[in-house]
Amino acid sequence: MEQQLPNNNSKLSLVNGGLTAPQPVASNSSVPAEEIVNRLPAVLQTTLILEDLLPLFEQQLRQVMQFDSFHYQHMTLNCQIDSDTQRHHRCHYKLDMNGQYLGDLTLTRRHKFTEKQIALIEDLLCQLVYPLRNCLLYKQALNSALLDDLTGLGNRAAYEKSLQREIELAQRQQSELSLIILDIDNFKAINDAYGHSSGDRALKALAETISQTMRRSDMAFRFGGEEFVLLLSNTDAEAAAIVAERLRIAVSETLCHDGKRGFGFTVSLGIAQLDAEEHGYHLFERADMALYQAKQTGRNTAVCAPQS
Ligand code: GH3
Ligand code: MG
Ligand code: MG
Repeated sequence: MEQQLPNNNSKLSLVNGGLTAPQPVASNSSVPAEEIVNRLPAVLQTTLILEDLLPLFEQQLRQVMQFDSFHYQHMTLNCQIDSDTQRHHRCHYKLDMNGQYLGDLTLTRRHKFTEKQIALIEDLLCQLVYPLRNCLLYKQALNSALLDDLTGLGNRAAYEKSLQREIELAQRQQSELSLIILDIDNFKAINDAYGHSSGDRALKALAETISQTMRRSDMAFRFGGEEFVLLLSNTDAEAAAIVAERLRIAVSETLCHDGKRGFGFTVSLGIAQLDAEEHGYHLFERADMALYQAKQTGRNTAVCAPQS
């Protein structure tokens, strides 16, 4: 654990990952600091959800100390929890347990933190690290259950979840939502000609091309086998058709290698825009019918479903 002292840039490293025994320090609040330090482990054990744990910690901390903002960030998990506007005086910790990064925590306020208050924060942080590590492990397990092992894209379960959420959002905000299904052409023949591992390489290359071609707000999933689905929020069918065409061309220009030979492949795409009050399975069905037409008309093409 590292602490950046307010008002100067020196760093204090706490040996042993901040796991030294807590030493209660008196506070100027109505709740004795010792009481908070003693009851904190029981409070923090009540949840495995990171988004619940940190506000609980903040709540306990506020009982022994005044501060304006509480900010937690985990770089690799793309997770951020904030309260209020940041102030001039900062107390910043890079949380680390036995070399495992647990995130960055920053408290800010208008007045300088005293040495006593810093000691108290560190005692409380010692109680936070284990529950925080458990929450992060739980979050990682949940995340990986939604990922496709081969391509790193979201899997079918992630697709179902996101589709539900995006449809609710589009209907509430009366915004457009489009869905594209993408299927590799004659993939069986690629496996037969170059081997299954080359087929897998093609799937990875396709996932990469999709990720590079789409916008940040677009979502891509491996639906199963050699079928992928894209969800495009705030996008109508016309704009989705442009994305599909861009993807079709990018894939046709992608080259894979089986060790000896290079090979390329193409994709067919079906596009559908969400109709008012339409269900997710129906939207998918319309895009799938458009994909079927694309296959029928010779493959390596994109077809847009008519609005129902
Ligand atoms: P079409 O153009 O009509 O889509 O023809 P296709 O050959 O792509 O379609 P088909 O459904 O006949 O075959 C799909 C193939 O995808 C068969 C299966 O072996 C292959 N496949 C599915 N999942 C994987 C995978 O994870 N890795 C590899 N290498 N192949 C896979
Ligand atoms: Mg196919
Ligand atoms: Mg298929």
